[in-house]
Amino acid sequence: MSESLKHPSIALMCELIRRQSVTPDDAGCQAILAERLERLGFACETMVFNDVTNLWARRGTAAPVLCFAGHTDVVPPGDEREWSSAPFEPTVRDGCLYARGAADMKSGLAATIVALEEFIAEHPDHDGSLAVLITSDEEGRARDGTLRVIETLAGRDEHIDWCVLGEPSSESELGDVVRIGRRGSLSGILNVRGIQGHVAYPQLADNPIRRFAPVLAELHQIEWDSGNEHFPPTSFQVVDVRAGIGAPNVTPGELSARFNFRYSTEWTHESLQQKVESVFDAHDIDYELNWHLSGKPFLTTPGKLIDAASQAITETTGNAPELSTGGGTSDGRFIAPSGADVIELGPVNASIHKIDEHVNVEDVITLTAMYRRIIELMLL
Ligand SMILES: [Zn+2]
Repeated sequence: MSESLKHPSIALMCELIRRQSVTPDDAGCQAILAERLERLGFACETMVFNDVTNLWARRGTAAPVLCFAGHTDVVPPGDEREWSSAPFEPTVRDGCLYARGAADMKSGLAATIVALEEFIAEHPDHDGSLAVLITSDEEGRARDGTLRVIETLAGRDEHIDWCVLGEPSSESELGDVVRIGRRGSLSGILNVRGIQGHVAYPQLADNPIRRFAPVLAELHQIEWDSGNEHFPPTSFQVVDVRAGIGAPNVTPGELSARFNFRYSTEWTHESLQQKVESVFDAHDIDYELNWHLSGKPFLTTPGKLIDAASQAITETTGNAPELSTGGGTSDGRFIAPSGADVIELGPVNASIHKIDEHVNVEDVITLTAMYRRIIELMLL
């Protein structure tokens, strides 16, 4: 174990962890990474949008561009007294390193930098370009981070062909799951208008609960789709319904509700919205419905990048990964629409965002070898 702790990926991860980069504060992490990348011949560009610092670094001008992406920000530690050791002081116990950001995702960042260093030392004249895109606004609002960098790149006709996000994708063992896409997330914010009245005189009132109930029942009965080869079925969930003024003898004049779709590529957000509105319009109901799209679904189809990742995982761990589109959203939702093939491959995610977040030390070393092998397979 003491030998493992001397590995350059572990040393760099510890250096990053000691910087308390609670979202959206980068706390100087990107400067450490930029300095290492500049030494390798990367042209580094810091892009600041409002209070968010982003780093775009590129080595070479030729296509194709293989990019590693990630974030330096972490979620707050919560009550530090609940931690077994201080959250920003990396501490090793039983082969695992405990700290906020250990799994999500300072280990992924450190493995990326060291993999690039090892690869470039051996192959300084590789094909195409290598790039690194890092934000400090992934865990927060995600408005001034990866999205703005991608917009800036598009504005000057610069494109990423392949992207590896070092987010913690693994479930029980390193490399058991590679995320190759994500479901879309679409929310509906509903208001139903009625007329408030005395509960004993319903003919003088118009109860919005009564208007909404049959619509809700119909929405629940729809089988939106049965999923497809890569996506689980689309799910419709109501997250909030409220009405009533708190008095037992008054029917409400208004109802508000909020619902969410996690949807597969069988739908677009437009087609989903149309379908829902057609259900409302078939009923006698006075409503207003606003939509919020947090991310469109994306899918990286099998090809060179997925093959390279699968081969690198099998060579370094002996196991074949599951290709999955499950889980919540990530910055992949901003990178994929630019036309890039995007995958997420990183350490085990069981402890992320929790008290006593940790990563297996040997896994970080294996992850470094995995990334390095992917670069070799893509750019030699
Ligand atoms: Zn993350």
